[in-house]
Amino acid sequence: AWDRVRRRLRAELGEDVFSSWFARVEIGGLVDSVAYLTVPTRFLKSWLEAHYAERLQVNCEAELGAVNGVILSVRQVSRDNAPAPVRETVAARPRSAVAAPAAASAEVRHGETATPCERDIVDACGTVLDRRLTFENFIVGKSNQLAFAAAERIAAAPAGSTPYNPLYLHAGVGLGKTHLLQAIAQEARRQGKRVAYFTADRFMYGFVAALKSQTALAFKEKLRGIDLLVVDDVQFIQGKSIQQEFGHTINALIDAGKQIVVAGDRLANDLEALDERIRSRLGGGLVVEVGDLDETLRGKILGGRLAALHAAHPNFHVNPDVVAYVACVVATNGRDLDGAANRLLAHATLSGQAVTLETAEAAIRDLVRTREPRRVKIEDIQKLVATRYNVSRADILSERRTAAVVKPRQIAMYLSKALTPRSLPEIGRRFGGRDHTTVLHAVRKIEKAITEDRMLHDEVDLLKRMLQE
Ligand code: ADP
Ligand code: MG
Repeated sequence: AWDRVRRRLRAELGEDVFSSWFARVEIGGLVDSVAYLTVPTRFLKSWLEAHYAERLQVNCEAELGAVNGVILSVRQVSRDNAPAPVRETVAARPRSAVAAPAAASAEVRHGETATPCERDIVDACGTVLDRRLTFENFIVGKSNQLAFAAAERIAAAPAGSTPYNPLYLHAGVGLGKTHLLQAIAQEARRQGKRVAYFTADRFMYGFVAALKSQTALAFKEKLRGIDLLVVDDVQFIQGKSIQQEFGHTINALIDAGKQIVVAGDRLANDLEALDERIRSRLGGGLVVEVGDLDETLRGKILGGRLAALHAAHPNFHVNPDVVAYVACVVATNGRDLDGAANRLLAHATLSGQAVTLETAEAAIRDLVRTREPRRVKIEDIQKLVATRYNVSRADILSERRTAAVVKPRQIAMYLSKALTPRSLPEIGRRFGGRDHTTVLHAVRKIEKAITEDRMLHDEVDLLKRMLQE
Protein backbone atom coordinates (compact mmCIF):
# COMPACT_ATOMS: atom_id res chain seq x y z
CA ALA A 1 0.00 0.00 0.00
CA TRP A 2 2.90 2.34 0.68
CA ASP A 3 3.95 1.88 -2.94
CA ARG A 4 0.57 3.17 -3.98
CA VAL A 5 0.96 6.21 -1.73
CA ARG A 6 4.31 6.84 -3.38
CA ARG A 7 2.77 6.58 -6.82
CA ARG A 8 0.08 9.06 -5.91
CA LEU A 9 2.61 11.52 -4.55
CA ARG A 10 4.73 11.19 -7.67
CA ALA A 11 1.73 11.76 -9.94
CA GLU A 12 0.52 14.69 -7.89
CA LEU A 13 3.78 16.54 -7.31
CA GLY A 14 5.79 15.59 -10.34
CA GLU A 15 8.96 13.58 -10.69
CA ASP A 16 11.32 16.36 -9.56
CA VAL A 17 9.61 17.16 -6.33
CA PHE A 18 9.01 13.52 -5.66
CA SER A 19 12.58 12.44 -6.13
CA SER A 20 13.95 15.38 -4.14
CA TRP A 21 11.77 14.93 -1.11
CA PHE A 22 9.85 11.68 -1.11
CA ALA A 23 12.05 9.05 -2.66
CA ARG A 24 13.70 8.25 0.64
CA VAL A 25 10.60 8.33 2.81
CA GLU A 26 9.74 4.90 4.14
CA ILE A 27 6.83 3.68 6.15
CA GLY A 28 7.51 2.27 9.58
CA GLY A 29 3.97 1.16 10.22
CA LEU A 30 0.39 2.17 10.80
CA VAL A 31 -0.62 2.04 14.44
CA ASP A 32 -3.98 3.25 15.72
CA SER A 33 -4.57 5.04 12.43
CA VAL A 34 -1.36 7.00 12.76
CA ALA A 35 1.15 6.51 9.96
CA TYR A 36 4.73 6.44 11.17
CA LEU A 37 7.07 7.45 8.37
CA THR A 38 10.82 7.56 8.51
CA VAL A 39 13.37 9.67 6.67
CA PRO A 40 17.16 9.55 6.65
CA THR A 41 17.93 13.08 7.83
CA ARG A 42 16.66 15.63 10.26
CA PHE A 43 16.61 18.23 7.56
CA LEU A 44 14.27 16.15 5.43
CA LYS A 45 12.00 15.64 8.42
CA SER A 46 11.64 19.36 9.11
CA TRP A 47 11.24 20.15 5.45
CA LEU A 48 8.46 17.63 4.94
CA GLU A 49 6.75 18.71 8.13
CA ALA A 50 6.84 22.33 7.13
CA HIS A 51 5.85 21.93 3.48
CA TYR A 52 4.17 18.63 2.81
CA ALA A 53 2.43 17.56 6.02
CA GLU A 54 -0.98 17.89 4.46
CA ARG A 55 -0.11 16.17 1.16
CA LEU A 56 1.31 13.24 3.07
CA GLN A 57 -1.75 13.01 5.24
CA VAL A 58 -4.20 13.19 2.33
CA ASN A 59 -2.38 10.66 0.21
CA CYS A 60 -1.85 8.23 3.06
CA GLU A 61 -5.52 8.50 3.83
CA ALA A 62 -6.44 7.75 0.23
CA GLU A 63 -4.50 4.50 0.19
CA LEU A 64 -4.26 3.33 3.77
CA GLY A 65 -7.77 4.02 4.98
CA ALA A 66 -8.49 6.24 7.98
CA VAL A 67 -5.30 8.05 8.92
CA ASN A 68 -5.57 10.45 11.83
CA GLY A 69 -2.03 11.64 11.70
CA VAL A 70 1.33 11.26 10.10
CA ILE A 71 4.42 11.24 12.28
CA LEU A 72 7.85 11.59 10.75
CA SER A 73 10.99 10.46 12.44
CA VAL A 74 14.61 10.18 11.49
CA ARG A 75 15.68 6.60 11.06
CA GLN A 76 18.86 5.27 12.51
CA VAL A 77 21.61 4.56 10.03
CA SER A 78 22.49 0.91 10.21
CA ARG A 79 25.77 0.58 12.03
CA ASP A 80 27.14 -1.69 9.32
CA ASN A 81 26.82 0.86 6.53
CA ALA A 82 27.32 3.89 8.70
CA PRO A 83 30.08 6.27 7.69
CA ALA A 84 33.15 6.28 9.89
CA PRO A 85 32.19 7.76 13.24
CA VAL A 86 32.82 11.45 13.72
CA ARG A 87 35.41 12.25 16.31
CA GLU A 88 32.97 13.75 18.74
CA THR A 89 30.41 11.00 18.88
CA VAL A 90 30.50 7.67 20.50
CA ALA A 91 28.23 4.93 19.23
CA ALA A 92 25.94 3.47 21.81
CA ARG A 93 27.93 0.59 23.18
CA PRO A 94 25.88 -2.55 22.57
CA ARG A 95 26.17 -3.98 26.02
CA SER A 96 28.23 -3.51 29.06
CA ALA A 97 31.10 -5.80 29.83
CA VAL A 98 29.10 -7.17 32.74
CA ALA A 99 26.32 -8.69 30.70
CA ALA A 100 26.86 -11.87 28.72
CA PRO A 101 27.51 -10.48 25.25
CA ALA A 102 27.31 -13.19 22.61
CA ALA A 103 24.20 -15.04 23.70
CA ALA A 104 22.31 -11.89 24.51
CA SER A 105 22.75 -10.23 21.15
CA ALA A 106 21.40 -13.29 19.39
CA GLU A 107 18.14 -13.14 21.32
CA VAL A 108 16.17 -11.22 18.79
CA ARG A 109 18.00 -12.33 15.69
CA HIS A 110 15.75 -13.43 12.85
CA GLY A 111 17.88 -14.95 10.16
CA GLU A 112 20.02 -13.29 7.56
CA THR A 113 17.57 -10.63 6.46
CA ALA A 114 17.18 -9.05 9.87
CA THR A 115 17.33 -5.26 9.94
CA PRO A 116 19.53 -3.66 12.57
CA CYS A 117 16.47 -3.14 14.70
CA GLU A 118 15.51 -6.75 14.62
CA ARG A 119 19.03 -7.76 15.45
CA ASP A 120 19.38 -5.69 18.51
CA ILE A 121 16.49 -3.43 18.67
CA VAL A 122 17.18 -1.40 21.77
CA ASP A 123 20.75 -0.66 20.84
CA ALA A 124 20.09 0.04 17.19
CA CYS A 125 17.22 2.40 17.90
CA GLY A 126 18.78 4.15 20.85
CA THR A 127 20.37 7.51 20.27
CA VAL A 128 24.04 8.01 19.62
CA LEU A 129 25.65 9.87 22.49
CA ASP A 130 27.75 12.99 22.09
CA ARG A 131 31.13 12.73 23.72
CA ARG A 132 31.14 16.45 24.52
CA LEU A 133 28.08 16.27 26.74
CA THR A 134 29.60 15.05 29.98
CA PHE A 135 29.42 16.07 33.62
CA GLU A 136 32.94 17.54 33.41
CA ASN A 137 31.82 19.88 30.63
CA PHE A 138 28.67 20.90 32.43
CA ILE A 139 28.93 24.19 34.26
CA VAL A 140 27.03 24.41 37.50
CA GLY A 141 25.27 27.56 38.65
CA LYS A 142 22.30 28.51 40.77
CA SER A 143 19.70 27.64 38.17
CA ASN A 144 20.91 24.11 37.49
CA GLN A 145 22.68 22.94 40.64
CA LEU A 146 19.78 20.83 41.82
CA ALA A 147 19.36 19.14 38.48
CA PHE A 148 23.09 18.56 38.28
CA ALA A 149 23.29 17.06 41.77
CA ALA A 150 20.38 14.70 41.13
CA ALA A 151 21.84 13.68 37.78
CA GLU A 152 25.26 12.94 39.25
CA ARG A 153 23.81 11.00 42.11
CA ILE A 154 21.74 8.82 39.76
CA ALA A 155 24.66 8.18 37.45
CA ALA A 156 26.87 7.18 40.39
CA ALA A 157 24.35 4.94 42.14
CA PRO A 158 25.07 1.24 41.80
CA ALA A 159 22.88 -0.72 39.38
CA GLY A 160 19.65 -1.69 41.07
CA SER A 161 19.61 1.29 43.40
CA THR A 162 17.33 4.16 42.44
CA PRO A 163 17.97 7.34 44.41
CA TYR A 164 15.10 9.28 42.87
CA ASN A 165 12.71 7.46 40.64
CA PRO A 166 11.72 8.70 38.18
CA LEU A 167 13.78 11.84 37.79
CA TYR A 168 11.86 14.33 35.68
CA LEU A 169 13.79 17.35 34.39
CA HIS A 170 11.99 20.18 32.72
CA ALA A 171 13.14 23.45 31.19
CA GLY A 172 12.82 25.61 28.12
CA VAL A 173 14.96 25.14 25.07
CA GLY A 174 18.77 25.24 25.35
CA LEU A 175 19.04 25.19 29.12
CA GLY A 176 20.99 21.94 29.37
CA LYS A 177 18.44 19.09 29.61
CA THR A 178 19.97 17.01 26.85
CA HIS A 179 23.45 17.75 28.13
CA LEU A 180 22.56 16.39 31.58
CA LEU A 181 20.73 13.36 30.22
CA GLN A 182 23.62 12.42 27.99
CA ALA A 183 26.06 12.94 30.85
CA ILE A 184 24.03 10.56 33.01
CA ALA A 185 23.89 7.94 30.27
CA GLN A 186 27.61 8.13 29.50
CA GLU A 187 28.69 8.00 33.11
CA ALA A 188 26.36 5.10 33.86
CA ARG A 189 27.64 3.21 30.81
CA ARG A 190 31.20 3.85 31.83
CA GLN A 191 30.40 2.08 35.05
CA GLY A 192 29.11 -0.92 33.18
CA LYS A 193 25.40 -0.32 33.66
CA ARG A 194 23.02 -1.32 30.91
CA VAL A 195 21.61 1.94 29.59
CA ALA A 196 18.97 2.66 26.97
CA TYR A 197 18.87 6.27 25.77
CA PHE A 198 16.03 7.43 23.56
CA THR A 199 14.70 10.64 22.22
CA ALA A 200 10.92 10.53 21.84
CA ASP A 201 11.43 10.11 18.10
CA ARG A 202 13.65 7.11 18.50
CA PHE A 203 11.39 5.51 21.02
CA MET A 204 8.47 5.76 18.61
CA TYR A 205 10.55 4.54 15.72
CA GLY A 206 11.93 1.64 17.72
CA PHE A 207 8.52 0.59 18.80
CA VAL A 208 6.88 0.84 15.41
CA ALA A 209 9.76 -1.04 13.80
CA ALA A 210 9.38 -3.74 16.42
CA LEU A 211 5.66 -4.01 15.77
CA LYS A 212 6.24 -4.26 12.06
CA SER A 213 8.82 -6.99 12.35
CA GLN A 214 6.75 -8.69 15.04
CA THR A 215 9.45 -8.30 17.61
CA ALA A 216 7.50 -6.01 19.90
CA LEU A 217 7.66 -8.53 22.68
CA ALA A 218 11.40 -8.85 22.35
CA PHE A 219 11.68 -5.06 22.28
CA LYS A 220 9.78 -4.79 25.52
CA GLU A 221 11.68 -7.58 27.16
CA LYS A 222 14.89 -6.03 26.08
CA LEU A 223 13.88 -2.72 27.56
CA ARG A 224 13.00 -4.40 30.78
CA GLY A 225 16.43 -5.94 31.02
CA ILE A 226 18.23 -2.63 31.39
CA ASP A 227 19.37 -0.76 34.51
CA LEU A 228 18.67 2.77 33.36
CA LEU A 229 16.20 4.18 30.84
CA VAL A 230 16.74 7.75 29.67
CA VAL A 231 14.10 9.46 27.51
CA ASP A 232 14.63 12.97 26.15
CA ASP A 233 12.00 15.39 24.83
CA VAL A 234 9.10 13.32 26.10
CA GLN A 235 6.67 16.03 24.95
CA PHE A 236 7.01 14.61 21.43
CA ILE A 237 5.77 11.12 22.21
CA GLN A 238 2.60 10.78 20.15
CA GLY A 239 0.10 8.14 19.22
CA LYS A 240 -2.09 6.22 21.58
CA SER A 241 -0.49 2.77 21.43
CA ILE A 242 3.00 4.15 21.64
CA GLN A 243 2.06 6.22 24.65
CA GLN A 244 0.51 3.19 26.23
CA GLU A 245 3.64 1.18 25.60
CA PHE A 246 5.72 4.00 26.94
CA GLY A 247 3.55 4.10 30.06
CA HIS A 248 3.74 0.34 30.56
CA THR A 249 7.47 0.40 30.07
CA ILE A 250 7.99 3.11 32.68
CA ASN A 251 5.68 1.41 35.13
CA ALA A 252 7.26 -1.99 34.69
CA LEU A 253 10.77 -0.60 35.04
CA ILE A 254 9.99 1.46 38.11
CA ASP A 255 8.25 -1.48 39.71
CA ALA A 256 11.26 -3.64 38.95
CA GLY A 257 13.51 -1.14 40.70
CA LYS A 258 15.12 0.23 37.53
CA GLN A 259 16.06 3.87 37.25
CA ILE A 260 14.17 6.16 34.87
CA VAL A 261 15.24 9.65 33.80
CA VAL A 262 12.96 11.73 31.59
CA ALA A 263 13.21 15.29 30.29
CA GLY A 264 10.51 17.49 28.84
CA ASP A 265 9.89 21.12 27.98
CA ARG A 266 7.20 21.68 30.60
CA LEU A 267 5.82 20.27 33.83
CA ALA A 268 4.75 16.65 33.53
CA ASN A 269 1.20 17.63 34.32
CA ASP A 270 1.12 20.01 31.35
CA LEU A 271 2.10 17.32 28.85
CA GLU A 272 -1.34 17.47 27.36
CA ALA A 273 -0.78 14.82 24.73
CA LEU A 274 0.21 12.21 27.29
CA ASP A 275 -2.06 9.91 29.17
CA GLU A 276 -3.07 11.15 32.61
CA ARG A 277 -1.50 8.15 34.34
CA ILE A 278 1.86 8.64 32.66
CA ARG A 279 1.84 12.30 33.63
CA SER A 280 1.22 11.53 37.23
CA ARG A 281 3.82 8.78 37.26
CA LEU A 282 6.39 11.17 35.80
CA GLY A 283 5.42 13.88 38.23
CA GLY A 284 5.47 11.46 41.14
CA GLY A 285 9.22 11.14 41.51
CA LEU A 286 11.76 13.90 41.80
CA VAL A 287 10.81 16.83 39.59
CA VAL A 288 13.47 19.46 38.94
CA GLU A 289 13.26 22.55 36.83
CA VAL A 290 16.39 23.92 35.18
CA GLY A 291 16.12 27.69 35.31
CA ASP A 292 17.36 30.41 32.96
CA LEU A 293 21.11 30.94 32.68
CA ASP A 294 22.31 34.04 34.50
CA GLU A 295 25.05 36.18 33.06
CA THR A 296 27.86 34.55 35.05
CA LEU A 297 26.80 31.11 33.94
CA ARG A 298 26.50 32.27 30.34
CA GLY A 299 30.01 33.68 30.51
CA LYS A 300 31.38 30.37 31.74
CA ILE A 301 29.48 28.28 29.21
CA LEU A 302 30.63 30.50 26.37
CA GLY A 303 34.17 30.45 27.73
CA GLY A 304 34.07 26.65 27.72
CA ARG A 305 32.88 26.48 24.11
CA LEU A 306 35.48 28.94 22.96
CA ALA A 307 38.22 27.01 24.74
CA ALA A 308 37.14 23.85 22.94
CA LEU A 309 37.15 25.66 19.59
CA HIS A 310 40.56 27.12 20.39
CA ALA A 311 41.89 23.62 21.01
CA ALA A 312 40.84 22.61 17.51
CA HIS A 313 41.85 25.93 15.88
CA PRO A 314 44.93 27.19 17.70
CA ASN A 315 44.88 30.56 15.93
CA PHE A 316 41.41 31.33 17.15
CA HIS A 317 41.45 33.43 20.26
CA VAL A 318 38.82 35.68 21.81
CA ASN A 319 39.55 38.38 24.40
CA PRO A 320 37.86 38.23 27.78
CA ASP A 321 36.08 41.54 27.18
CA VAL A 322 34.53 40.18 23.99
CA VAL A 323 33.45 37.05 25.87
CA ALA A 324 31.89 39.20 28.57
CA TYR A 325 30.10 41.33 25.98
CA VAL A 326 28.66 38.33 24.13
CA ALA A 327 27.58 36.65 27.38
CA CYS A 328 25.83 39.85 28.36
CA VAL A 329 23.86 40.34 25.17
CA VAL A 330 23.11 36.75 24.17
CA ALA A 331 20.75 36.23 27.06
CA THR A 332 18.61 33.41 25.75
CA ASN A 333 20.13 29.96 26.16
CA GLY A 334 23.02 27.59 25.62
CA ARG A 335 22.05 26.88 22.05
CA ASP A 336 22.40 30.54 21.11
CA LEU A 337 25.71 30.73 22.96
CA ASP A 338 26.93 27.79 20.85
CA GLY A 339 25.72 29.68 17.79
CA ALA A 340 27.57 32.81 18.88
CA ALA A 341 30.81 30.88 19.43
CA ASN A 342 30.53 29.36 15.95
CA ARG A 343 29.90 32.74 14.35
CA LEU A 344 32.93 34.23 16.03
CA LEU A 345 35.01 31.34 14.75
CA ALA A 346 33.61 31.66 11.23
CA HIS A 347 34.22 35.37 11.28
CA ALA A 348 37.79 35.05 12.50
CA THR A 349 38.55 32.29 9.99
CA LEU A 350 37.05 34.07 7.00
CA SER A 351 38.47 37.51 7.71
CA GLY A 352 41.77 36.23 9.01
CA GLN A 353 41.56 38.91 11.69
CA ALA A 354 41.31 38.89 15.45
CA VAL A 355 37.81 39.28 16.86
CA THR A 356 37.16 42.77 18.21
CA LEU A 357 34.12 44.11 20.03
CA GLU A 358 32.89 45.67 16.79
CA THR A 359 33.28 42.56 14.66
CA ALA A 360 31.73 40.45 17.42
CA GLU A 361 28.77 42.78 17.55
CA ALA A 362 28.20 42.41 13.83
CA ALA A 363 28.74 38.65 13.83
CA ILE A 364 26.16 37.88 16.52
CA ARG A 365 23.64 40.63 15.86
CA ASP A 366 20.76 38.35 14.98
CA LEU A 367 21.24 36.27 18.11
CA VAL A 368 20.68 39.24 20.33
CA ARG A 369 17.10 38.96 21.30
CA THR A 370 15.42 38.97 24.60
CA ARG A 371 14.22 35.83 26.23
CA GLU A 372 11.28 33.96 24.74
CA PRO A 373 8.05 35.64 25.80
CA ARG A 374 6.51 34.18 28.90
CA ARG A 375 4.45 31.05 28.34
CA VAL A 376 0.81 31.98 28.73
CA LYS A 377 -1.68 29.60 30.32
CA ILE A 378 -5.23 29.16 29.07
CA GLU A 379 -6.46 29.44 32.62
CA ASP A 380 -4.81 32.85 33.04
CA ILE A 381 -6.40 34.03 29.81
CA GLN A 382 -9.83 32.96 31.01
CA LYS A 383 -9.36 34.68 34.36
CA LEU A 384 -8.12 37.94 32.90
CA VAL A 385 -10.81 38.12 30.23
CA ALA A 386 -13.50 37.30 32.80
CA THR A 387 -12.32 40.10 35.08
CA ARG A 388 -12.15 42.56 32.21
CA TYR A 389 -15.73 41.86 31.07
CA ASN A 390 -17.22 41.46 34.48
CA VAL A 391 -18.28 37.86 34.12
CA SER A 392 -17.02 34.84 36.00
CA ARG A 393 -14.66 32.21 34.66
CA ALA A 394 -17.45 29.69 35.22
CA ASP A 395 -19.65 31.77 32.86
CA ILE A 396 -16.98 31.52 30.20
CA LEU A 397 -16.82 27.76 30.53
CA SER A 398 -20.61 27.40 30.76
CA GLU A 399 -23.19 26.73 28.06
CA ARG A 400 -24.71 30.20 28.40
CA ARG A 401 -25.19 31.97 25.12
CA THR A 402 -26.07 35.54 26.12
CA ALA A 403 -24.09 38.23 24.35
CA ALA A 404 -22.50 39.32 27.63
CA VAL A 405 -20.83 35.92 27.90
CA VAL A 406 -20.35 34.95 24.26
CA LYS A 407 -18.10 37.86 23.39
CA PRO A 408 -15.59 37.41 26.23
CA ARG A 409 -15.63 33.66 25.61
CA GLN A 410 -14.73 34.19 21.98
CA ILE A 411 -12.02 36.65 22.85
CA ALA A 412 -10.57 34.21 25.36
CA MET A 413 -10.56 31.45 22.73
CA TYR A 414 -8.92 33.75 20.24
CA LEU A 415 -6.22 34.69 22.75
CA SER A 416 -5.68 31.04 23.63
CA LYS A 417 -5.00 30.27 19.99
CA ALA A 418 -2.81 33.33 19.50
CA LEU A 419 -0.73 33.06 22.67
CA THR A 420 -0.39 29.36 23.41
CA PRO A 421 0.80 26.46 21.29
CA ARG A 422 -2.39 24.52 22.06
CA SER A 423 -4.40 22.95 19.26
CA LEU A 424 -8.01 23.84 18.51
CA PRO A 425 -9.40 20.58 19.95
CA GLU A 426 -7.33 21.06 23.08
CA ILE A 427 -8.58 24.64 23.49
CA GLY A 428 -12.14 23.39 23.02
CA ARG A 429 -11.58 20.83 25.75
CA ARG A 430 -10.33 23.53 28.09
CA PHE A 431 -13.38 25.68 27.41
CA GLY A 432 -15.87 23.35 28.97
CA GLY A 433 -15.55 20.57 26.41
CA ARG A 434 -16.43 22.43 23.25
CA ASP A 435 -15.88 21.19 19.74
CA HIS A 436 -12.85 22.40 17.77
CA THR A 437 -15.11 23.92 15.12
CA THR A 438 -16.58 26.19 17.78
CA VAL A 439 -13.11 27.38 18.66
CA LEU A 440 -12.22 27.88 15.01
CA HIS A 441 -15.39 29.92 14.53
CA ALA A 442 -14.52 32.11 17.52
CA VAL A 443 -10.95 32.63 16.35
CA ARG A 444 -12.06 33.65 12.85
CA LYS A 445 -14.76 35.91 14.18
CA ILE A 446 -12.41 37.85 16.46
CA GLU A 447 -9.70 37.97 13.80
CA LYS A 448 -12.16 39.64 11.51
CA ALA A 449 -13.67 41.88 14.17
CA ILE A 450 -10.35 43.37 15.18
CA THR A 451 -9.61 44.42 11.63
CA GLU A 452 -12.91 46.28 11.51
CA ASP A 453 -13.23 47.65 15.01
CA ARG A 454 -10.37 49.85 16.14
CA MET A 455 -11.44 49.89 19.77
CA LEU A 456 -11.74 46.15 19.98
CA HIS A 457 -8.36 45.87 18.32
CA ASP A 458 -6.69 48.02 20.96
CA GLU A 459 -8.47 46.24 23.72
CA VAL A 460 -7.41 42.77 22.55
CA ASP A 461 -3.93 44.09 22.06
CA LEU A 462 -3.82 45.35 25.62
CA LEU A 463 -5.04 42.00 26.95
CA LYS A 464 -2.29 40.32 24.97
CA ARG A 465 0.36 42.53 26.41
CA MET A 466 -0.92 42.10 29.94
CA LEU A 467 -0.83 38.33 29.56
CA GLN A 468 2.66 38.34 28.17
CA GLU A 469 4.19 40.51 30.85
P1 ADP B 1 18.10 21.48 25.96
O1 ADP B 1 18.19 20.00 25.76
O2 ADP B 1 17.59 21.86 27.32
O3 ADP B 1 17.37 22.20 24.88
P2 ADP B 1 20.96 21.37 25.58
O4 ADP B 1 21.35 20.41 26.63
O5 ADP B 1 20.91 20.88 24.19
O6 ADP B 1 19.58 22.07 25.95
O7 ADP B 1 21.93 22.64 25.67
C1 ADP B 1 22.18 23.50 24.57
C2 ADP B 1 23.65 23.82 24.50
O8 ADP B 1 24.04 24.57 25.64
C3 ADP B 1 24.52 22.57 24.49
O9 ADP B 1 25.63 22.80 23.66
C4 ADP B 1 24.96 22.45 25.92
O10 ADP B 1 26.20 21.79 26.00
C5 ADP B 1 25.05 23.89 26.36
N1 ADP B 1 24.79 24.04 27.80
C6 ADP B 1 23.60 24.29 28.40
N2 ADP B 1 23.75 24.36 29.74
C7 ADP B 1 25.05 24.16 29.99
C8 ADP B 1 25.87 24.14 31.17
N3 ADP B 1 25.34 24.33 32.38
N4 ADP B 1 27.19 23.92 31.03
C9 ADP B 1 27.73 23.73 29.82
N5 ADP B 1 27.05 23.75 28.67
C10 ADP B 1 25.72 23.96 28.73
MG1 MG C 1 17.32 18.87 24.27
